Amino acid sequence: MSECSECKGTGFIVEGETVCPVCHGSGKVKSVDLTSLNEEDLPGLLSGDLNCKKCGGTGKIPVKKRCEK
Ligand SMILES: [Zn+2]
Ligand SMILES: [Zn+2]
Repeated sequence: MSECSECKGTGFIVEGETVCPVCHGSGKVKSVDLTSLNEEDLPGLLSGDLNCKKCGGTGKIPVKKRCEK
C-alpha cells in the first residue's frame, strides 16, 4: 500500500486559503470569549494584541477538500 501523492496520506488536499472570518485577516483579535480564556492569553489580552484562535494568528484559513483517491 503506497501513500497517496496528492494528499500525502492525510486524506485532504489544500486548495488555497481564505481570509479568517474571525479576525478578518489581521491574525489578531481585540476581545476573546471569557469562557475560553486561558492564562497564557492574559498578556496578549491586556495589550490588546491577542492571536486569533481560529487561524492561529496567521489571518488565513487553509481551504481543504477531501482527497478522492
Ligand atoms: Zn489522496
Ligand atoms: Zn483569525
